[in-house]
Amino acid sequence: IAEKIDAEADKPCESIDGCRMSLYINAGLSAEVELNAEQIGAGVGLYRTEIPFMLRERFPSEQEQVKLYRQVLEAAPSLPITMRTLDVGGDKPLPYFPINEENPFLGWRGIRLTLDHPEIFLVQVRAMLRASVGLSNLQIMLPMISTVCEVQESKRLINQAFYEISDEIAESGQTLNKPKLGIMLEVPSVLYQLPQLAKHVDFFSVGSNDLTQYLLAVDRNNTRVAGLYNSYHPAVLGALYDVVQKANQSQVPVTICGEIAGEPAGALLLMGMGYRRLSMNGFNLRKINWLIRKVTLDECKQLLSLALTSVSQEEVFVHLNQYLETKG
Ligand code: PEP
Ligand code: MG
Repeated sequence: IAEKIDAEADKPCESIDGCRMSLYINAGLSAEVELNAEQIGAGVGLYRTEIPFMLRERFPSEQEQVKLYRQVLEAAPSLPITMRTLDVGGDKPLPYFPINEENPFLGWRGIRLTLDHPEIFLVQVRAMLRASVGLSNLQIMLPMISTVCEVQESKRLINQAFYEISDEIAESGQTLNKPKLGIMLEVPSVLYQLPQLAKHVDFFSVGSNDLTQYLLAVDRNNTRVAGLYNSYHPAVLGALYDVVQKANQSQVPVTICGEIAGEPAGALLLMGMGYRRLSMNGFNLRKINWLIRKVTLDECKQLLSLALTSVSQEEVFVHLNQYLETKG
């Protein structure tokens, strides 16, 4: 089957009945982008900037960050590259910036931390902007947004960073484009504020990994409750369905970049819900492309309604497995 999948790798990602899907990759190292992006024509739906931060012994300087981000942006200059601002805290510790909290997942994470340390945020955003000089594929994305104010404050800082460097870049005869701005939808509160948030952003991206943990009140890394952590819980599926409908009503493009998007059953359910942009680990791309080319949108919708009316994830899996078996 691997051969069959490879043979179709270059074919467009479209269902039998013509539903076109856009696939993107999740990455954290420039090499992943270099390997995957141009070759399969996918942009980057999520570049986790915290990965290079976690691999170092101190905060990378602005210059170091410029170099890093430039490599990523240049790896696929014609494709969108969505760089997420630093998302540390919770399960992603920085060895040189210890955070000790009783409830790290409900604590100082993502945008909360960087808005409390605007100097860290500004250095990173300036580095992204400098790295994008002469290119137009940078998109900036904010993690762990839970209020509209956080978006407004982040925008203010991004504008500040932009104007701080725009003169010097213009003087050197180069162009600096304003990147699109998006937010992660991964804290349940934002599900009820999409119209307000939509006024401030260019795109949404659903972080189903965190959304699952916060909806189900299950720490995604706690082995005692690991059995309860499941993105196929009918309630999580219901929330994901709700989000795509609301985002479409707000006319803001929405991607989904949590693990479920790169899983065969998950991708089909998401397609049935109305998602048309999925972002996943590079190694899942070909498989998902192959699978989507074997199904119809109607089948995905039927599968979705079975899943949404199930009482448990176990029942959801019974339906999904039955269907997937028919596709080999
Ligand atoms: C998510 O939460 O779904 C996500 C994509 O981000 P991360 O896994 O990096 O928290
Ligand atoms: Mg997340």
